Amino acid sequence: MTENSNRKLSIQTRVAQALHFVEAETGAVVPSIQPAATYARDENYEVRKPYWYRRDGSQTTAHAEAVIAEMEDATESLLFASGMSACTAVIEHLPTGSHIVAPKVMYHGVLAQIQNYAANGRVTVSYYTAGNLAELESAVAAQPTTLVWVETPNNPNWEVTDIQAAADIAHAAGAKLVADCTGTPPSMTKALDFGADISFHSATKYLNGHSDITAGVLSVRETGKYWDDICMVRKLHGTALHSFDAWLLIRGMRTLFLRVERSCKNTMAIATHFEGHPLLEAVLYPGLASDPGHEVAKRQTNGQFGGMMSIIVKGTEQTAIDTTRFCELFYPATSLGGVESLVEHRKTVSGDGFPVHPRLLRLSIGIEDADDLIYDIEQALTRANQPV
Ligand SMILES: *Cc1c(COP(=O)(O)O)cnc(C)c1O
Repeated sequence: MTENSNRKLSIQTRVAQALHFVEAETGAVVPSIQPAATYARDENYEVRKPYWYRRDGSQTTAHAEAVIAEMEDATESLLFASGMSACTAVIEHLPTGSHIVAPKVMYHGVLAQIQNYAANGRVTVSYYTAGNLAELESAVAAQPTTLVWVETPNNPNWEVTDIQAAADIAHAAGAKLVADCTGTPPSMTKALDFGADISFHSATKYLNGHSDITAGVLSVRETGKYWDDICMVRKLHGTALHSFDAWLLIRGMRTLFLRVERSCKNTMAIATHFEGHPLLEAVLYPGLASDPGHEVAKRQTNGQFGGMMSIIVKGTEQTAIDTTRFCELFYPATSLGGVESLVEHRKTVSGDGFPVHPRLLRLSIGIEDADDLIYDIEQALTRANQPV
């Protein structure tokens, strides 16, 4: 590398090599797992920084955090045992009485958690329609606001919110913006580049990509008291990501760019194929030129648009459920962002009271062959529509 020492390496190179990792003692190109719960002090009885007790993170977790910070252009990234525990830390660190502005429809667990805090009198909440900046702005103006929550693209309708515009509104009001971009990982969307104060990803999804851990990550450029408070919540709640799971995450992230590129291509092929299909009422995917979020999404996702889409089937709620039952390749399972494709009847999973179309099926498109996936949905739709 010496003759090229001024050349900045591509992020794809750095992530594929987990930051050119070489273990000092052995030369191993794969890190060891460091599972210790406690660490011996040195000969002067001083703590050997930075590790002293596992509740504060481990070397393996810190390595995974360093890879994510590199992708996000963040100064710090902090990994939690799940996406939910990361989101909860953000809500928990807010002073009592804080006003949160959040979308009416968003990831159901985060919405439920915000509602729990509101029901207990810890915070107040105002809602806006996802993607609607005018509503977001009036919700922020209604009372002094501490935190604006954006999820883009938004689960499960995939509305797109302009992160930069939302950040400008939040900052003008003295609030911080957290952006949940789980649907478009940092190979596509770096929310901090668009002015978000905190970028959140459920690393359970694309970052890990193999459906075998839960993890969540917060990334920031500006640290300070609010960040110290969030780190303290992780430590006191004991929600740092486990070393074994961090090791799997490092392994998964090495192929992030390849996996995501393939899954975006597949999704575009499937969405294009099914747009205007006689058995469907709608195809929801920002990659379609007809989608209202298309232009903003193009700018915000590196032109890739992501691997998540939904379809609204014609017929009844039972037709939608039957379509998932008759899929032979798509797994009828929750979650997203893995190499295998999943289909989910969202209303069954979110429960009554959550505003979701009763005939909506959420598709997480994996890295299989696009024609095989198209064939599977076609045959499932046909069977679901056959008279019994
Ligand atoms: C999955 C998900 C979460 C929660 O993450 P977990 O890892 O399941 O706890 C939050 N937001 C979005 C958009 C998600 O898809």
